[in-house]
Amino acid sequence: MGGFFGIISKSPCANTLFYGTDYHSHMGTKRAGLATMNEQGIIKRSIHRIENSYFRNKFEDELGEFSGNKGIGVISDNDPQPIVLRSHLGTFAIVTVGKINNLEELGNELLSRGINFSELSSGQINPTEVVGHLITLEQSFADGIRHVQDKVRGSCSLLLMTQDGIIAARDRYGRTPVVVGVRCGQEGTAIAFASESCSFPNLDLQLERFLGPGEAVMAQAGSLEETDLNSSLSLKQLLPPREKLQICTFLWVYYGFPTSAYEGINVEEVRFRNGELMGKEEEYQVDSVCSIPDSGTGMAMGYAVGKGVPYRQAVAKYTPTWPRSFMPADKERRALVARMKLLPNADVIRGTRLVCCDDSIVRGTQLKNNVGVFLRNGVKEIHVRISCPPLLFRCPYLHFTSARSDTELITRRIILAQKSDNLNPYIDPETPEHVAMVEGIRREMNFTSLRFNSINNMITSIGLPKEKLCTYCFDGSGCGK
Ligand code: SF4
Repeated sequence: MGGFFGIISKSPCANTLFYGTDYHSHMGTKRAGLATMNEQGIIKRSIHRIENSYFRNKFEDELGEFSGNKGIGVISDNDPQPIVLRSHLGTFAIVTVGKINNLEELGNELLSRGINFSELSSGQINPTEVVGHLITLEQSFADGIRHVQDKVRGSCSLLLMTQDGIIAARDRYGRTPVVVGVRCGQEGTAIAFASESCSFPNLDLQLERFLGPGEAVMAQAGSLEETDLNSSLSLKQLLPPREKLQICTFLWVYYGFPTSAYEGINVEEVRFRNGELMGKEEEYQVDSVCSIPDSGTGMAMGYAVGKGVPYRQAVAKYTPTWPRSFMPADKERRALVARMKLLPNADVIRGTRLVCCDDSIVRGTQLKNNVGVFLRNGVKEIHVRISCPPLLFRCPYLHFTSARSDTELITRRIILAQKSDNLNPYIDPETPEHVAMVEGIRREMNFTSLRFNSINNMITSIGLPKEKLCTYCFDGSGCGK
């Protein structure tokens, strides 16, 4: 999915930029990049692969080379960023989060207008460079961002670093978040933008507000002179928020860090409520509940309260020697690494009727392997509870999985095996087709029982009206391009 962080401050920003970007490491596994601009307008940029290493290890040694009071950083699941462009609007650096489905079409359009590309990602045009060039087709950054929002099919939130300041713009439908933070303390006055609000507290940044869908704002050095930084007036609005919000529901279910919030709604609170509602609905007698760490843990704690059974750490992740994103290319070795990371606590598992909570099932391979740990350690019954409904459609708006086709989703494989090509009945949990699909997954995965959360429970836990949430991957509904 990816996440970004940007800062403009009255003092050198490299340290805050470094840690602020690092706090987005859970959002992506492929590339990371930083760029700063000094008072002379000179940009220092660096991009590294982070597949087999931590962000911090890659950038720590060169941190002293970043100078200036403003900077942007990104953790990217896709293209190398930031991109630096010299244009009629001035020299700027740009980072993006999202997915452009009409990349080729946009690229061809730009080529036909005589624009050349300098960056390639796996032989493809770099999506962030395309966005940068689309902006430069207009006469101002504000008009350029509006142009991007009108042209891109998919989603695109962005940060731009210009000579005048930092611009933040949220995706047209707000599928990914952008949050504003301010600092007025000893570390020096600053305004920051981030995908994840969890990046703020340790950097003494106060959460100021969330940008609305399509909204663009600019933090300027001049604005930092204003006395009341706790007012959103310290930001100059370039584009007002649009009406329609379609924020990704999966941020709360899976992507988000537990201490982050989107639209003012905390991730951990949602996961807890999700689990509590499922626990209250539970019909099986069980002894305890555990989670597949980490994103299932908030749900499992809520489930424990809802059902009235103890939460136990039946498995623990051994992380000290395994970078989170460590992904060997070889499939067998990948499975081995996943298994090595998860340590069972046989004394807690043996002979119990155990509920295991997890965030979602995509292909099912990982969960099947994880639950194999319980079976090998003498569990009597293993009941799996998933905090969202079955994933029936691949996400067209974010780089959610590496799945290249819908049939890689376990739901679609089971539906295919049931020789059905009409997906509609599988969306409604009350239909025999949906029940048969869940039973097919349960049998294949060797669980005692399997329940997915209902879409209503999930929406109730988040607390926003359904029309403000993207739920496309669960029910195929949604709006826009
Ligand atoms: S389709 Fe799913 S993963 Fe994609 S934006 Fe919508 S809710 Fe999020």
